[in-house]
Amino acid sequence: MAFVYKADPVRGAEWARLFAAKAPDIPFHIWPDTGNADRVRYLAAWMPPQDIERQFPNLELFFSTGAGVDQFDLAALPPELPVVRMAEPGVVAGMVEYATMAVLALHRDLPAYIRQQREGRWAAHRVYPASKRRVSVLGLGVLGCAVLDQLRTLGFQLAGWSRTRREIEGVTCYAGQEELPTMLASTDILVCLLPLTPETRGMLDGALFQHLPRGASLVHVGRGAHLDHQALLDALETGWLSGAVVDVTDPEPLPAGHAFWSHPKILLTPHIASMTQPETAVELVLDNIRRHEVGAPLIGLVDRARGY
Ligand code: NDP
Repeated sequence: MAFVYKADPVRGAEWARLFAAKAPDIPFHIWPDTGNADRVRYLAAWMPPQDIERQFPNLELFFSTGAGVDQFDLAALPPELPVVRMAEPGVVAGMVEYATMAVLALHRDLPAYIRQQREGRWAAHRVYPASKRRVSVLGLGVLGCAVLDQLRTLGFQLAGWSRTRREIEGVTCYAGQEELPTMLASTDILVCLLPLTPETRGMLDGALFQHLPRGASLVHVGRGAHLDHQALLDALETGWLSGAVVDVTDPEPLPAGHAFWSHPKILLTPHIASMTQPETAVELVLDNIRRHEVGAPLIGLVDRARGY
């Protein structure tokens, strides 16, 4: 039995050290070294090899090294191969920090104060209490729920949207396309934490923004292809949206000269809202290997039919 890691080699070296300490019985290889490929039972990769079945004929589990699985074609993997994503505590904590920072930045008019500082202009905007600000989260999964838990402590009015109906204390929950406009109509700050699927691709568009009240703002931490860039620029231009914090774009990296780089109402970061943390990721991977060995449910198992 052996494990192959196929992603950033620097982080791979950290994984190797952690495996050596925590699971010395599992031979660990960093791609392109695979050892005897017939012995490989577990593969962790950002991008699986194209000929995965031929490369690793005895593979039992595939781990995405990211929290999402949209970076590769799920349908190209062997149909029976379980695919596990990295819903590990380190990535959750990072997202809670970033999303909270972004919501607070918009709540407290940080983009405007950054503009004013550049202009040497001293001007105060009215301060509203969090209890008067309505924050809605698209996606009530592992990350969306953790972000809501933190925002709740700050006193915001909270809502959330998912495909299936959820019940979360202190959060007004909406489900399905039909209920989305109702939530948007009472949203001041919209946070996108959806997975990228055929249903969610491109959904942050002009039509969706029209359902938000004038002056609302956006935190985009899902995936770049959720967002229609031009629609965001248009909504900011007309003042329909007042600001945005954008961590993910399509394409990445964002090309030189793209309007987001210098837009005065956009705070832009290079897809760093959160990252898989080797310490906690290896714990989760080893826990899942143990679970797999005894036939227990896997943590972060992707539903291949839903695509997330
Ligand atoms: P989960 O799979 O745990 O949750 C996904 C949520 O989205 C669920 O509530 C699901 O609904 C909902 N959803 C999916 N499709 C639809 C739809 N068509 N309509 C309505 N709701 C839908 O994912 P996570 O919370 O772990 O992660 C979410 C995403 O965050 C990742 O897929 C990734 O894109 C992004 N991410 C970004 C990072 C960054 O650094 N910017 C880092 C990590 C993740 P239901 O509950 O009904 O299934």
